[in-house]
Amino acid sequence: MSYAVDEKGFYGEFGGAFIPEMLYPNVEELRTKYLEISSQPEFIKEFNDLLRYYVGRPTPLYFAKNLSLKYNTKIYLKREDLNHTGAHKVNNTIGQILLAERMGKKRIIAETGAGQHGVATATVCALKGLQCIVYMGEVDIARQAPNVARMKMLGAEVRPAKSGSKTLKDATNEAIRDWIGNPEDTFYIIGSVVGPHPYPDMVARFQSVISEEIKKQLQDQIGREYPEYLLACVGGGSNAAGTFYHYLDDLRVQLFMAEAAGHGVDTDKSAATSILGTSGIIHGSRTLLMQTEDGQIIEPHSISAGLDYPGIGPLHAHLLKMGRAKSFPITDKEAVDASFMLSRIEGIIPALESAHALSILEKYTFSKDEVVVINLSGRGDKDLDTYMQYLDKY
Ligand SMILES: *Cc1c(COP(=O)(O)O)cnc(C)c1O
Repeated sequence: MSYAVDEKGFYGEFGGAFIPEMLYPNVEELRTKYLEISSQPEFIKEFNDLLRYYVGRPTPLYFAKNLSLKYNTKIYLKREDLNHTGAHKVNNTIGQILLAERMGKKRIIAETGAGQHGVATATVCALKGLQCIVYMGEVDIARQAPNVARMKMLGAEVRPAKSGSKTLKDATNEAIRDWIGNPEDTFYIIGSVVGPHPYPDMVARFQSVISEEIKKQLQDQIGREYPEYLLACVGGGSNAAGTFYHYLDDLRVQLFMAEAAGHGVDTDKSAATSILGTSGIIHGSRTLLMQTEDGQIIEPHSISAGLDYPGIGPLHAHLLKMGRAKSFPITDKEAVDASFMLSRIEGIIPALESAHALSILEKYTFSKDEVVVINLSGRGDKDLDTYMQYLDKY
């Protein structure tokens, strides 16, 4: 596969493992074991069984008739919102917890921004009876109280990150520090296709169940296994990577990514990395990121906490650079518009993140007979407080 990672962990010029020497043994242990362990039949069986009976997979591929009429094309929604815990993230945490178990690690750490990855990690730790510590920025702990409560209910310890802007990147720094200090017994579960090699490749593989299912479901429903377009939102990029994975080399399929433009790409409140980002190193990987001329990270902004990240995964940076994927900046307001639209015409309340992908329907004209698959990465329950503020406008 030409867009696959190379032996050194690169996607073209992006990726790699730019890590402090102290972290080298941990990352190297994972790099040498992840493919071998995850290809064992007994691993594959447990992974598939958990996805089926615990998570509720396969998730439906739903032909959205009303949405299709409105936009005069054929739109299918991949319902990742129906997974246990409410989003795609659990596909990845299940994969990583099975790896941790087989590597003999008893202590799990994770970073989280909005708390979605923290909840998905706390869930699988409870399932496996493993200790779980989630690092979260102090500011995010205050903003995301319901998810903090969920993690605690599931038995996880939530540790506040008090440095810098007290948000996701600071929580990530704390988690890395913890990992360096506890190399023997600790496994670090990263929540997206970011971080040093092998994380981007490993997470993409676990999420690739999404495109594997889309292929089968399209074959059953329309008699061919590919659509003309795949649409997904990109924070770090894991739900998009899973949606694109088995179609990366199929040039009949166009890949569209929605990025959070926040208040707009010409303001200082945005998270549209593909437009505002330049090549640099963040959290162990070379990729596009939002930074000042002297390399300081610029604080991103998005109404959706899951897209509020100053970088994107190295695979996505490469897909954009090669012209294989196209990116659409979507503002906060456009995303909220799309959420209310979908709720009112299909009876599905999407996560704010997923609403960014839906918003591409307003930016691009698809023709009548083309098939468009949109990944609905998560459900909107967690965003109701935000939606309530807009109720009288719709
Ligand atoms: C975390 C999250 C995202 C963004 O993360 P990716 O790694 O880009 O997928 C998107 N949608 C939902 C519902 C999320 O929870």
